[in-house]
Amino acid sequence: MAAPRMTPDLPTEQWAQVVEETGKPVVYKKIPVRQPGPDEVLINIKYSGVCHTDLHAVNGDWPIPTKLPLVGGHEGAGVVVGLGSLVEDIKLGDYAGVKWINGTCLQCSFCQQADEPLCSKALLSGYTVDGTFQEYCIAKAAHVARIPKECNLEAIAPVLCAGITVYKGLKESNARPGQTVAIVGAGGGLGSLACQYAKAMGLEIIAIDGGEDKRAMTASLGAKHFVDFMASKDVVSDVKAATEDGLGPHAAIVVAASEKPFQQAADYVRPRGSVVAIGLPSGAYLRAPVFDTVIKMITIKGSYVGNRKDSAEAIEFFRRGLINAPYKTCGLSELQKVYDLMQQGNIAGRYVVDTSK
Ligand code: NAD
Ligand code: ZN
Repeated sequence: MAAPRMTPDLPTEQWAQVVEETGKPVVYKKIPVRQPGPDEVLINIKYSGVCHTDLHAVNGDWPIPTKLPLVGGHEGAGVVVGLGSLVEDIKLGDYAGVKWINGTCLQCSFCQQADEPLCSKALLSGYTVDGTFQEYCIAKAAHVARIPKECNLEAIAPVLCAGITVYKGLKESNARPGQTVAIVGAGGGLGSLACQYAKAMGLEIIAIDGGEDKRAMTASLGAKHFVDFMASKDVVSDVKAATEDGLGPHAAIVVAASEKPFQQAADYVRPRGSVVAIGLPSGAYLRAPVFDTVIKMITIKGSYVGNRKDSAEAIEFFRRGLINAPYKTCGLSELQKVYDLMQQGNIAGRYVVDTSK
């Protein structure tokens, strides 16, 4: 088999954050740099966003086990430094991104219909295959996000999961320009990007989260109203009251990593409204009254990342300058500190790690 084409003088070892045991702190250590297979690319990750999904993986929150040991991370932006022998449409030196969907079979009925996230053979970055909390990461060429050269790699990193996911969720909500969406968990990573995409899509925003920092941040991102779930005595009435006619928002995009808001959303969306579940709190259930759901014709649905076209569209919004969500940057070596802050719900917006530090 033909050898991969590689940028000269790549190191054989690199720094990475490794989950050695579920439920334990991550370990910052040196691991080997792998060579890409024929249909893969090797990307020198410059920056990676830190998603709550990475924390769920470390904590072992979900019913699907992770690979172990595991390099987490799935919002990695960087430069292509290795190309498998079959890869033709990407060049060494191009900007590219590693997202949650690392690769899929491209053959099954879901892949054929552009529902690649539903492929039963999907490889998941930072979950079933090593992800972006390392300097050099591998992904299938077919799924690597193409990033235009004019984009800032640090700022675009959170778009690669948070941005794509909320953009897809907003499309799935069927809310149209001029209508109102509640963004639940609006002050977090996905929520802050959801505010920016919703604004760009011409939607009016009711942000729901807790605390003054998140109120101020969501207002600056375009939210017209804020409901503080920690201070409110009745979230359902407060959300309805935030709409002009008191009937509630046309859609709720639920990106919180806790169960309670999944029990409330069906109660405040308006008739014909939709609840889009995106957050993945451990062991949680959705709840809705059958009677009201029927007579109000409410739609309740899940939305899971996005396909390659959704990804390209979400990146194009960013390239056009429409997406400016706040992020803080720290070294990859400090990842555990980011997890500790996230566990406490103390991050407004996103953290990005710089893999060179
Ligand atoms: P985050 O920790 O940055 O943000 C979560 C936010 O929810 C926080 O600001 C928190 O204060 C807020 N919150 C908590 N309880 C709330 C309540 N009762 N009402 C309103 N807000 C509340 O997390 P994130 O990185 O944005 O990820 C959010 C969730 O989305 C995680 O569970 C993650 O695994 C999931 N996720 C799903 C997909 C998908 O494809 N469906 C993709 C990425 C992430
Ligand atoms: Zn994510």
